Amino acid sequence: MSVRGNIDKLRESVPADVKIVAVSKFHSNDEILEAYNDSQRIFGESRVQELNAKQPMLPWDIEWHFIGNLQRNKVKFIAPFIHLIHSLDSERLMLEIEKQAVACNRKIPCLLQLHVADEETKSGFLPDECRRFLAKGKWRDCTHVQLAGVMGMATYTDDLKKVRGEFRLIKSLFGEFKSHYFSDDDHFKEISMGMSGDYPIAIEEGATIIRVGTLIFGER
Ligand SMILES: *Cc1c(COP(=O)(O)O)cnc(C)c1O
Repeated sequence: MSVRGNIDKLRESVPADVKIVAVSKFHSNDEILEAYNDSQRIFGESRVQELNAKQPMLPWDIEWHFIGNLQRNKVKFIAPFIHLIHSLDSERLMLEIEKQAVACNRKIPCLLQLHVADEETKSGFLPDECRRFLAKGKWRDCTHVQLAGVMGMATYTDDLKKVRGEFRLIKSLFGEFKSHYFSDDDHFKEISMGMSGDYPIAIEEGATIIRVGTLIFGER
């Protein structure tokens, strides 16, 4: 099926208030334009170099989301235009984002990436690390970093009960942080979870943003 057909089909199964990030990593500008021409405006990339090669060649009104592990020395390359960073997972990274956001005179929305899956490799704050990060309060000084919610990934497994449990944990941590720190802050509202293999469960468990690559663009 075509990119257009894939997106149309995906939209049919996603409630209108859930945002779809079309994850375009390893896919070409032509494929991205095919989705763009079907009204897709939010695209996600996980590598700074690839994003920086694509961004100037593509329409200005694309909202680029950064979804991968972000090295501090590369923040400056995306700070001028990035719409949402899904992968804030340390104080040092936050301080660098703050610095680069100040330099371009913008406020950069970021999600707290939570590590709830079994896999060693997945980055993100462990729940207690994130609690400590928020309790410490340094984020309050970073007036150019807009904390906008949480992001997480479930374990890659056929055990759907486990996947559901992990999404539930992400949602419950969101609720905890919201009530402790952000009850007066309307910007803290997003729960980014769910990919091609598990997005229906993520939506059932409260995702406000899903990140879908393979189902839209095919295998990488
Ligand atoms: C690649 C990637 C996705 C999309 O994965 P698919 O299985 O292709 O839908 C979502 N989130 C992150 C963080 C990714 O790196």
